[in-house]
Amino acid sequence: MDLSYTPEELAFQREVRVWLKKNVPKRQRDERPIEFGDPRRIAQAKTWQRKVHAAGYLALGWPREYGGQGMDVMRQTIVNEEMVRARAPGLIGMMGIQMVGPTLIQHGTEEQRRRYLPRILEADDIWCQGYSEPGSGSDLASLRTRAELVGDEFVVNGQKVWTSNAQFADWMFCLVRTDPNVPKHAGISYILIDMKTSGITVRPLVQMTGDAGFNEVFFEDVRVPRENLIGGLNNGWQVANATLAHERNMLGSTMRTQQTFQKLLRLARTQRRNGGPASADPVIRQRLADLALRVETMKLEAYRQLTNALRGRPAGISASVSKLVTTELNHDIARTALEIMGSYGPLARKDPRVRDAGIWPLDFMYSLGLIIGGGTSQIQKNIIAERGLGMPKEPRLA
Ligand SMILES: Cc1cc2nc3c(=O)[nH]c(=O)nc-3n(C[C@H](O)[C@H](O)[C@H](O)COP(=O)(O)OP(=O)(O)OC[C@H]3O[C@@H](n4cnc5c(N)ncnc54)[C@H](O)[C@@H]3O)c2cc1C
Repeated sequence: MDLSYTPEELAFQREVRVWLKKNVPKRQRDERPIEFGDPRRIAQAKTWQRKVHAAGYLALGWPREYGGQGMDVMRQTIVNEEMVRARAPGLIGMMGIQMVGPTLIQHGTEEQRRRYLPRILEADDIWCQGYSEPGSGSDLASLRTRAELVGDEFVVNGQKVWTSNAQFADWMFCLVRTDPNVPKHAGISYILIDMKTSGITVRPLVQMTGDAGFNEVFFEDVRVPRENLIGGLNNGWQVANATLAHERNMLGSTMRTQQTFQKLLRLARTQRRNGGPASADPVIRQRLADLALRVETMKLEAYRQLTNALRGRPAGISASVSKLVTTELNHDIARTALEIMGSYGPLARKDPRVRDAGIWPLDFMYSLGLIIGGGTSQIQKNIIAERGLGMPKEPRLA
């Protein structure tokens, strides 16, 4: 494994760093676009994504004909690292860029790629993920939202839940049951639904962070053209899993984790505890050392995965490993910050005595959600055990 950049990559890194220094909007630093309800913030986030795209720093690995830069994965890694370093706001089109986009490159037709991919990058279309249903979360293949083919259209009836961003999304990539008479994995299709189609009702759900980031989505005789089918009729399970691997890679990225850990160290050095800085407290030091080891381990794991990608080796279960470890690590970092702050920890964002603009209690709650979203930790452990370690499948309960 070679851990250094080539002279060309270093020059590219400098160029990106200079651009970000000039262009990251100061007031929007560290902003997370996932929990948006305010149309002004949505518009602001779209403007930011368009600017990044116009500069050539979006989807660096996508082919040029679909709006990408046709570069290798190293350039994308450099941009990602610099974005974190510059505390650039998150991208509002993440589900398009990191989930459905790569899936369309893999499983879409040429026409579908040309139609959807450039609009994803331009933030003209924001996407949401219609997988989970009441009673079908971990056991996703049991989903019941029905799509019947009538002529050249699917007629969709049913309900999705926990659909992040549906309140402002333009499109949904959605799993539907197209054949109820075959084993559950074999009767699912992956279709793209225009959220403006009549018969769709979106009802926001408020999370413990106080934001309404996800929703219930109801379908009543929603008509979807057959041409919006991805990867063939009743072949949705394969396509869905491709998207899930991309999602787990996204959630398992350690770049922001490294940054957050540095912030935790700053907090520990400046927060008083037992008459000295918290970082001098033996219990806190032990906790910080444990977190430092885990952060470093995940950084090296990310390098290992990058090397595998560059050498064209199969990714295997690496997305599940990163998702499992990183989301739990993010939560433990936030938990340690709350412990360090003691009774000041849970103070709300607007309280004048908050530390770090009140981000820690919010991070604590938000990161807990990400341990569940994209497949819970228990489900990742099942995947690692069965597909990675070759252990026997979990026993079916009667
Ligand atoms: C912040 C957030 C955002 C989300 N965004 C979206 C979205 O945009 N689109 C979408 O479709 N979904 C989304 N989800 C839903 C998410 O995918 C589901 O919550 C998740 O898959 C778990 O399903 P469930 O909530 O039905 O829990 P359940 O499946 O009912 O699980 C309950 C508990 O049982 C455990 N469990 C279940 N089965 C097993 C098993 N076989 N072995 C061991 N333990 C098991 C689980 O680990 C969990 O602890 C989001 C969730 C969150 C928290």
